[in-house]
Amino acid sequence: MCSLKSVLVILFPITLILSLAGCATSPMGRKQLTVMSESQMNSMGANSFEELKRKMKISQNARFNQLTKCLSRELLNAAEQNPNEWEVVVFAENSPNAFALPGNKIGVHTGMIQLAQNPDQLAAVIGHEIGHVLAQHGNERTSQALLAQGGIMAANIALGDGSPKRNLLLAGIGLGAQFGILMPFSRKHETEADKLGVQYMAKAGYDPLQASRLWVTMGQKAGGSPPEFLSTHPSPDSRVRYLESYGAQFTGTYQTSRSKARCR
Ligand SMILES: [Zn+2]
Repeated sequence: MCSLKSVLVILFPITLILSLAGCATSPMGRKQLTVMSESQMNSMGANSFEELKRKMKISQNARFNQLTKCLSRELLNAAEQNPNEWEVVVFAENSPNAFALPGNKIGVHTGMIQLAQNPDQLAAVIGHEIGHVLAQHGNERTSQALLAQGGIMAANIALGDGSPKRNLLLAGIGLGAQFGILMPFSRKHETEADKLGVQYMAKAGYDPLQASRLWVTMGQKAGGSPPEFLSTHPSPDSRVRYLESYGAQFTGTYQTSRSKARCR
């Protein structure tokens, strides 16, 4: 059973949502509440990604595409994933950003590739995004939003005629698609994705300490107006600190794997 407080708070009125709720465990061992099915999340992610590809300009830069796709393959292999089941697209956008959607979709902006000072730093970005997907952060976040929505509706129902109003609750679940899969992740999700990214990059043969170096650069470039990627994430300072100590734990893994890293 999940022992999340958010479930207990709304346990009484939301029997329908609870009956559909599932428990998951993130790759870091953290218990998660997931209301949405994996296939629902994947199709929502895939549809949104298709829309983004229509709306945004896809980069034709051969070097950027080659490096991003090469790193993605090696990192996915390190994460024990089949790279052929993933889609990684480079978007011609100057903002230093990257994003992940359920359904194995990753987008990297050219601005982020330009900001990374070496392939290892770009590997940290892509590894981070793979981490978001594999830890099902999209599902967890959508589930939290849905449960919050359910709580509000339950309050209304309690004041009303007291009927279960199942159709309302089902509509609530259907609203998941409108919660904007691109809404910011929480600090907890960011930290978890950072750590997973470090694991994948070390295993793929990329220097895990370069993840913290990337955030030093991000902090310097942030200046007065932080880039999009920064504004929704933990502060660069705290990130640099924990990535340094976490990365140091994987230098052994990196040393034994470094000869197999091919993307330069
Ligand atoms: Zn993130």
